[in-house]
Formats: sequence, C-alpha cells, structure tokens
Amino acid sequence: MAEKVVIIGSGPAGFSAAIYAARASLEPLLFEGTVKPEMIPLGQLAYTTEVENFAGFPAGNIREFVESAVDAERHYNLPPAPAGHERDGRPHYAVQGVELMELMKQQALNFGTRIVGEDIVDVDFTNRPFQLTSSGGQTVAAETVIVATGARANYLGLESEEAFKNRGVSACAVCDGALPRFRNKPLVVVGGGDSAIEEATYLTKFASQVMLVHRRDELRASKIMQQRAFDDPKLEILWNTVVDEVVGDDSQGVTGVRLNSTVDQPSREVEAAGMFLAIGHTPNTEFLKGKLEMNDKGYLRWTEAFRTKTSVAGVFAAGDVADDYYRQAITSAGTGCMAALDAERYLAEHGK
Ligand code: NAP
Repeated sequence: MAEKVVIIGSGPAGFSAAIYAARASLEPLLFEGTVKPEMIPLGQLAYTTEVENFAGFPAGNIREFVESAVDAERHYNLPPAPAGHERDGRPHYAVQGVELMELMKQQALNFGTRIVGEDIVDVDFTNRPFQLTSSGGQTVAAETVIVATGARANYLGLESEEAFKNRGVSACAVCDGALPRFRNKPLVVVGGGDSAIEEATYLTKFASQVMLVHRRDELRASKIMQQRAFDDPKLEILWNTVVDEVVGDDSQGVTGVRLNSTVDQPSREVEAAGMFLAIGHTPNTEFLKGKLEMNDKGYLRWTEAFRTKTSVAGVFAAGDVADDYYRQAITSAGTGCMAALDAERYLAEHGK
C-alpha cells in the first residue's frame, strides 16, 4: 500500500513537516539522508554552534528571562538554572544547532514518524502513486511527497582546493576548526556574508589570526555580524581580494594561499594552515532534474504564491531547497509546516 506522505530530508523543514503530518495521523515516512557532504542527516544546523535567533530559544540567562515573566511570589516554583552553562561568571545558555535538530527529530518520533537512514536517489512522478527509490535499493510508493533536501556549501572550484580538501580546506569551521592542525596558526576564510563572519569569528577561538578574504570592498553580512567582525582583534579583512591557489605539500597539507587583488596590488602568498569556504550554497536537487520545475540556480519553484506546491500536484517543497532568499532555520521550519498542511489538504481533496 502506498505511503500517505513521504518526506525527503531531515533539517528543520523535514522534521517540522513530519511533526505536523504525524499529528494529522498521516504516519509520515521520512528519509533522513546518509552521512556524506551533500544531504547530511539533521541538515546544515548540524554544522552550527550556538543558535540565537530561533524563536523560543533565547540565548542568555534563561532563569532571569523566566523570572521576569512570572509573578515574584511564584518564583519558588521555577526549576533551578541548568548547571554548567556560564559566560563571564553569569548563567548563560544558548541552544546548539545539533541539539535543536535532535529535539526536532525526537518531537517527530514522539508522534509516530518513521525514519529511514537513507537518501532518495530517484523519483518517478509520472504515475500515481509516485515511486521513490532509496540509496539502499528500496522502492516506496507515495500518495504525496514533501521535498526538504536543503542546500549544501559551495567551493571555489580550484584544482588546488580539491587537492587539499580535508587536509586544510574545509567548508565547515564548526566541524573542523578545533582540529589540532589549525590551532594557533593563521587561517583564511573566504566570503563576505553572515556565514563567513560566523565562521571567521568562531575560528578566532583557535587560530593565531584569521584573514577574511572578500572579493568586494563591502560585506554582504548583516550589520550586527559586520560589527562583530570589525570588533574582533584577531580578525583581519582583506578587501577586494580573491584566492588564486591553495598552497601546501603532502606532509603538512595547506601551508598558505596565493591571493590576487581585484584592484591593483600584485598577487601575494600568505601563510595559512587552513582555508574555510563560506561562499553560499547549492540546492540538493540533482535527483529531481527534469522531474520538477526549478529556477536557474536549481532551487525548486513554488507554482502558487504562498503555497508549497511544486510543478507536480501532490509534490510539495519546503525549506532551503525552494528558498534562495530567506534561508533561515525558522523559515524552513515554517514552510515545513505549510507543506504538511498542503499535503494533508491534497489527500483530503483526493479522498485518500
Ligand atoms: P551569502 O549571503 O550568499 O554570502 C555569500 C558570500 O560569498 C558573499 O559575500 C559573496 O560575495 C561570496 N561569494 C560567492 N561566491 C563567491 C566566489 N566564487 N568567490 C568569492 N566569494 C564568493 O551566503 P551565506 O553567508 O552563506 O548566508 C546565507 C543565508 O544564511 C543568508 O540569508 C544569511 O543571512 C543567513 N545566515 C545567517 C546567519 C546568522 O544570522 N547568524 C549565519 C549564517 C548565515 P558577494 O558579496 O560579492 O556576492
């Protein structure tokens, strides 16, 4: 018998869709992806440290926040502040990306979501029920599908960058930044958006110095993140600069990068034990080419304003896979909810 709802992807969009679909008794089957650079289980938040902007998870002194909201005479009712979470001697707690995702996963499981640790590698949307093929070789029939496969980090495309991947070249400071090879060494981060600043400031904890290489004379990052970069004494911004080549050898891995100015200075080499890319993302839609409409960057197209409908009736898209504009965990979660409601309504309209 066909599944009522199959969800592909396990980021905030996938699990929010699962929570809503499961609570609507649709018994969703969710393919969470395998451990590989593209579609990683738990999505990109699994690569993030503190999340400060997901509503409901304020960073700071949580006990103080709650106390201010509760009448003083009822304060004795409040639980003690969690131990071991302090910053500058004061209680401080911020949810970690992976922690937030594990909570979402557990919430989806609590309502009866079934989770498979595989990718969907092929789809047939020409017949109903739809047919999906997993990386483990199983075929699943589905009345509706919610695509929530997200997006992945981009690389510059240099041969030398490819040669030093995992030997000093990384697209995830949070995953790799604490490795011994990077400790107390100069590091390079490429990009000028929020991710670049986030990665660069994170790396200053370990590095002797971080050079942010940006191709323009103005950052794309939000003002608050820009200020964070300007205020960090270990972070230097190299304006109007691009990476020409990653330099290194077999024994040490990356030892430096050759930089080119986009304005006038001659090319030069700087010493660096690592190069971290933060230059945007590509949607995980390769397996959907020719099956669903996409925009010129490969993001799935919503075919009706403020609905998660794709070009195939019964197939819905949620999260970063259909969003090259907002790209936030909270917006992904919101569209995941929308996709589950859209799938539920589609099933009801079609008597399923
Ligand atoms: P982004 O905003 O698209 O920024 C990408 C950066 O990489 C840009 O500065 C771009 O330069 C540069 N770039 C792109 N291709 C390049 C190339 N081939 N060579 C050199 N530089 C290149 O991407 P993002 O920083 O990953 O952010 C994505 C979204 O997530 C944004 O909406 C952001 O606000 C959000 N985000 C938020 C937070 C937070 O709030 N804490 C953290 C991370 C991300 P140009 O500026 O010249 O185009």
